[in-house]
Amino acid sequence: MRYPARLRGRGERTSISVKGTLSKSSEKKQTSQRPAIFCDFDGTITRVDVTDEILAQLAHPSWREVEQEWTCGAIGSRECLERQMALVEASAKELNALIDAVAIDPHFASFWRFIEECKLPFYVLSDSFDYIIRRVLKRAGVNGVLRNGTHMFASALRVEGRRLVTAFPHCAAPCEHGCATCKPRIMRRLSGGRGPVVFIGDGLSDRFAVDEADVVFAKRQLLAYCRENGIACHQFATFAEIETALRDLVDAGRPRRQRGRSPKAKSER
Ligand SMILES: [Mg+2]
Ligand SMILES: [Zn+2]
Repeated sequence: MRYPARLRGRGERTSISVKGTLSKSSEKKQTSQRPAIFCDFDGTITRVDVTDEILAQLAHPSWREVEQEWTCGAIGSRECLERQMALVEASAKELNALIDAVAIDPHFASFWRFIEECKLPFYVLSDSFDYIIRRVLKRAGVNGVLRNGTHMFASALRVEGRRLVTAFPHCAAPCEHGCATCKPRIMRRLSGGRGPVVFIGDGLSDRFAVDEADVVFAKRQLLAYCRENGIACHQFATFAEIETALRDLVDAGRPRRQRGRSPKAKSER
């Protein structure tokens, strides 16, 4: 199967291979080609890195020294976040006020309605924290679904007095990258036998995830990384462009007679 022109990348690959076989005669198999979407949080759904904002405003300044160790590759993101969040001193009220001021991609709420309308599998993968992600996404109309470990895979955070207590439920066995949440590992586990695997991201820590994806949407550092390494990807600025491209992809996977129609609630799942 070749994807619509808009979905083909500019890198070395001119078309993207689809995992699994597509039988033209079977509608069931056709609909199983619906994409599974994996999405970074910080800087991708939000306009800024929320963790960096928390550290800049609420942590002891020595968090920057820890950041240096991570930047130069001396420590992984798990150790980095564990040590940095221990330097934060804030009440739940102060933390919530900061989180509630974080700007979200203006088209994410509409993108989320599209995901729900098409019933596409959607997962947030993040080194950041469930507490923050849930609170931010609630503002974009995402409610209830994103339980940590089902549709969201992130580090865990709770507030105890003026301390932030962290846990890392998704790195029981340490990975080779030292991730707090190992994105490629989760993608491998959840995408088996499904339709094309889509990854959306912005940062350097997303570079391990693109290896597991058939279709990559990238901005900022991830875009630069993909270009430097000849990895096919689609540049995006907002979720409006991703929604347009994914509508084409979902449409291409449907039998011809159904194209252009909105998916029905149950019959097409
Ligand atoms: Mg990011
Ligand atoms: Zn990893």
